[in-house]
Amino acid sequence: MAALDPVLTLCDLESWSRPGTALAVLGHPIQHSISPPMHNAALAALARADARFADWKYFRFEIHPDDLPRALDLLHAKKFRGVNLTVPHKIIAFDRVAEVDAAARPAGAVNTLRWSERGWHGFNTDGYGLASALREVFRRELSGAHVLLLGAGGAARGAAVECLERRCASLWIANRTRENLDGLLAALAGLAGAIPLRGFAPSAPPPGLPGGLLVINATSAGLRDTDPPPIDLAALPGPAAVFDMIYNPPQTPLLRAAAALRIPPANGLGMLVHQGAKALEIWSGVPAAQTAPTMAAAARAALGVA
Ligand code: NDP
Repeated sequence: MAALDPVLTLCDLESWSRPGTALAVLGHPIQHSISPPMHNAALAALARADARFADWKYFRFEIHPDDLPRALDLLHAKKFRGVNLTVPHKIIAFDRVAEVDAAARPAGAVNTLRWSERGWHGFNTDGYGLASALREVFRRELSGAHVLLLGAGGAARGAAVECLERRCASLWIANRTRENLDGLLAALAGLAGAIPLRGFAPSAPPPGLPGGLLVINATSAGLRDTDPPPIDLAALPGPAAVFDMIYNPPQTPLLRAAAALRIPPANGLGMLVHQGAKALEIWSGVPAAQTAPTMAAAARAALGVA
């Protein structure tokens, strides 16, 4: 199903003249994204009950980071109603929006933009998507959990803010590049308050890590089957569950390692669905809970999973 959605480019945007209400996802790469079939299934279902949605359609664009400013200007000029941003645009776009939703500000990253006269209004629905997925797949809340977050990019930022705002018991962040890790820790310090917040290199888990960690992978390591897991789970003191934000492929080296150690694993499909339903709520006003089941069914069909 996803293969039927063409991958559009900046050139397509330059000459855009399609009538109707347009939504888009921008990424580099974007080939793997199943957001178009997911959103278009939800829009088709909405259109059956409400003619307002009859001309709404969601497209995907392959946009290099160097072209992001131009693409955002064009999308605004062509009056796209909303935009989703995926790898690697979430942090770059943060400084290019006219207004940032208060809840997205501490994250320093936006994944959802809504058109306004003044320019783009930025939101971050990743944290909401993560919390909803953890509840659904593990019956777990971030509140009171000891969390080990892998990564310091756009998705990790949204996740870290959600962990702290929901008052996790402690937040440990491991990232390959120290400079990016330090930037994230500095951005989070004010929000953490009394919650223990520590960073470390994935190759050197520190003493003092608590048992029963909720491990969340927010790195891109695992998008390719040849990627090594972003951390050695066996070096951690008894993780309780492993959530990998990656959903395509549905099995990653990290999730395979978790299963081998009998740690409950889950991929990022549920998060994708819930962050997408929240984005559609921002654009349409339709509650996320109403569109999430249709999106989930479409996402599973697009991936060919039961
Ligand atoms: P970014 O490009 O902003 O960040 C990438 C992160 O991954 C950085 O921390 C980077 O570390 C790290 N990284 C990249 N390659 C490797 C590697 N080979 N080994 C270890 N670490 C690596 O991307 P996003 O934060 O936007 O997305 C991250 C992942 O989360 C992607 O796989 C994306 O598909 C997934 N995602 C899923 C969502 C869902 O709804 N399920 C929603 C959002 C994201 P460094 O700082 O060292 O470069």
